[in-house]
Amino acid sequence: MKSYDVVIAGGGPAGAGAAKALRDSGLTYCVIEKYMYPRKKLCAGGLTNKSIKVLKELDLSIADIRKRAFGEVTFAGKGIEKTVTLNDPLYMVDRTEFDRAMMKQSVADCDLYQGETVTELRKDENILMTDRDGYRFRYLIFADGVNGYSFRLIPDREFGFAVECDSPVTYDRTVVDFAATKDGYGWIFPKEGHTTVGLGGSGKHKDGYVSLLEEFCRKYGIPVERKDIRGYRLPMFSERVYNSDVIDGKIILAGDAGSFVDCITGEGICYALSTGMCAARSIIEAEKNGSKLSDAFFGLTRGTAAVLSRRIKQSKVLYSPLRSYVIKKGLTREDYLVRIRNAFG
Ligand SMILES: Cc1cc2nc3c(=O)[nH]c(=O)nc-3n(C[C@H](O)[C@H](O)[C@H](O)COP(=O)(O)OP(=O)(O)OC[C@H]3O[C@@H](n4cnc5c(N)ncnc54)[C@H](O)[C@@H]3O)c2cc1C
Repeated sequence: MKSYDVVIAGGGPAGAGAAKALRDSGLTYCVIEKYMYPRKKLCAGGLTNKSIKVLKELDLSIADIRKRAFGEVTFAGKGIEKTVTLNDPLYMVDRTEFDRAMMKQSVADCDLYQGETVTELRKDENILMTDRDGYRFRYLIFADGVNGYSFRLIPDREFGFAVECDSPVTYDRTVVDFAATKDGYGWIFPKEGHTTVGLGGSGKHKDGYVSLLEEFCRKYGIPVERKDIRGYRLPMFSERVYNSDVIDGKIILAGDAGSFVDCITGEGICYALSTGMCAARSIIEAEKNGSKLSDAFFGLTRGTAAVLSRRIKQSKVLYSPLRSYVIKKGLTREDYLVRIRNAFG
């Protein structure tokens, strides 16, 4: 049995954010990751200025990662197309490469156990079991995503859904198309040497998503093969989950594990990095000042929760029976377009 002050379960952006923030804290900590790096994660790999800000705050660099930067996004819907200049570039990265690089920079000072799956939480004993070993912890950060072990710790969660695949074509513009589905949007996110196309939303109409994605790709002349299309759940932010489930004693759920995803855009990388970082910082604060862990965590994440809560309210308008009207207005009125740009930029 191994023993650490902090055990981080999961090595995506939330795990990397937590590990990096624990560096120099004087606490012992480790990361347990189910797969060996490099490992795949279904994601469009769009890094907004929000993600870039958190990466800077964590002193994590994307300088050595292959990426493309876009200064514009084309928003489309209802027969209208508007290309909008962003305040900051939107970066497109490959998640396989991004996650490996972030973890490499984050675990320089700690143990990383790869290819090891969390299988059991013995909460009363502060022990986390994997398929290989046992870990005694004083604090535990679950950063194991939407389908990880921690999935069972939050009852009755609601999920959005997205389908995605890579096309071998190179594409030179970034597109967000609200007409691609009734309850979300379709996206074209070009990378170096390939293009990620996808479609996601509330999940209410998810059975038709694969056909809709094929139709969407045909519209933009992007070849895709049905067999390459994959689907994945999107754990949309919920105030109920935030207020009652993301922290339990010395256990914190960060990133997708805690449902920190924007319910309009589906953006989750920046919230995973930042809630992982906040989980670590709240542990450091609790240790240093004797403050209650939950007070420290809620204090640090309140701003993020407020942003994500506002999105829930906005989504009620965007995904209401007035959707067509809202999209048309949104794409034709300058002040609305700025709001859409700010949500995606
Ligand atoms: C189709 C799609 C497109 C998206 N596009 C974007 C985008 O363009 N921009 C954006 O910001 N967000 C996007 N998102 C959301 C984003 O991918 C997630 O919010 C983000 O990956 C969450 O990071 P995380 O670290 O919480 O979880 P993950 O990235 O899922 O990482 C969890 C880690 O835990 C590991 N793990 C799981 N179970 C166990 C276990 N039992 N034991 C040990 N380890 C375990 C996994 O292997 C994984 O490495 C997209 C999501 C989808 C589905």
